[in-house]
Amino acid sequence: MALIVMKFGGTSVADMDRIRNVAQHVKREVTAGNKVAVVVSAMAGRTNELISWVNDATETPDPKEYDAVVSSGEQVTSGLLALCLQNEGVEARSWHGWQIPLETDDAHSKARITDIKGESLKSSVENGTVAVIAGFQGISPDGRIATLGRGGSDTSAVAIAAALDADLCDIYTDVDGVYTTDPRIVSKAQRLEKVSYEEMLEMASSGAKVLQTRSVELAMTKNVRLAVRSSFDDPASVPAVNLDGNSTIGTLVCNEDEIVEQQVVSGIAYAKDEAKVTLINVADEPGVAAKVFGPLAEANINVDMIVQNVSADGATTDMTFTVPEDDLARAISVLETRKDELRYEELKGATDIVKVSVIGVGMRSHAGVAANMFKELADKGINIQAITTSEIKISILIDAAYQELAVRTLHSLFGLDQETA
Ligand code: ADP
Ligand code: ASP
Ligand code: MG
Repeated sequence: MALIVMKFGGTSVADMDRIRNVAQHVKREVTAGNKVAVVVSAMAGRTNELISWVNDATETPDPKEYDAVVSSGEQVTSGLLALCLQNEGVEARSWHGWQIPLETDDAHSKARITDIKGESLKSSVENGTVAVIAGFQGISPDGRIATLGRGGSDTSAVAIAAALDADLCDIYTDVDGVYTTDPRIVSKAQRLEKVSYEEMLEMASSGAKVLQTRSVELAMTKNVRLAVRSSFDDPASVPAVNLDGNSTIGTLVCNEDEIVEQQVVSGIAYAKDEAKVTLINVADEPGVAAKVFGPLAEANINVDMIVQNVSADGATTDMTFTVPEDDLARAISVLETRKDELRYEELKGATDIVKVSVIGVGMRSHAGVAANMFKELADKGINIQAITTSEIKISILIDAAYQELAVRTLHSLFGLDQETA
């Protein structure tokens, strides 16, 4: 028999009917003899609602109380699913983060998992009781609830799978797998049967929110077999996970050498939640970059793309970089307080931009991907404001108005469009 982790996202547990549907998916696996730990998200929209209440209460929320509030959505769904399973005659109980315990660091609201002891969880699952775990939450060193960042239930699921040494971690969501790009934007997107950890990591960190980036990182380092599939399939018509822990549907995230036919480009991702900061006429002298980026790092602000131009006279430079949109106001205030030291002329922030990324392990051995990409975008009149690359990814920053056009154009250019019948 296999030991599996089944994770259900917000739309999959959006109301009581959907939770009952999830109970049927779980019951199918239990009936087939598999041992099951389930990880649930909050009902769709609930976490946003909880965050809006926190922001209504105060402009500067204490991160520990923020976590106490926003973690509650998962507590509700874990209890409700346990009840629906019991109602179906399936032995089940709910688990909150602290009960496992799923230990985290003290970075409240974006905490990282540090350890999962989980002995009683493991023996309970092995004895045949379905564990219904509240995702997105753990316990910090000082004994407070800590949440794992938006989309963090994916990471809870992978971490639990690693701790239980599970045969498979199945992420059930509202699409039936990982696609070549967001299927809600490009109708010609194709489902990938397999995708490598590395590509999935780049896709997730470039905006494909189907999996939280950290969950992929963790699956890669802990060698967790990870699959993405739909909870909207009829629970009765889907086969149970087989003895090897292999799922037969959805997308498998696996090692590169398990993928026989590899494309040069496997996917296109986009991220709308970045903001652009431009410093105009900064003194161009040694150490200026450190003076700009040091304080931002100290303020825990992640800088992504960076472009620096030297002016014609060589005395000043313009610097453009991107930060998460949520951190834009803080980034600006950090730089404003250092205006005298940095001696820049003007500081500008903009949110009407989008980052579009082309991803594929095949880029390692194929030249010309960037050149083709830039030419095609130029032909469509799309101006590129910044570029960054890694071995398997090229990202560009463009005006937000061109997002769909750019994604569709690149999807066709790299041969990813589905053939229409
Ligand atoms: P859940 O609530 O189940 O965690 P999410 O909304 O976090 O679901 O993630 C699923 C969504 O991810 C899909 O509805 C889809 O719009 C989006 N998505 C973005 N990029 C991709 C991609 N490449 N493949 C599949 N889905 C994608
Ligand atoms: N409910 C949390 C969120 O909306 C965690 C998750 O869904 O994975 O971010
Ligand atoms: Mg999600």
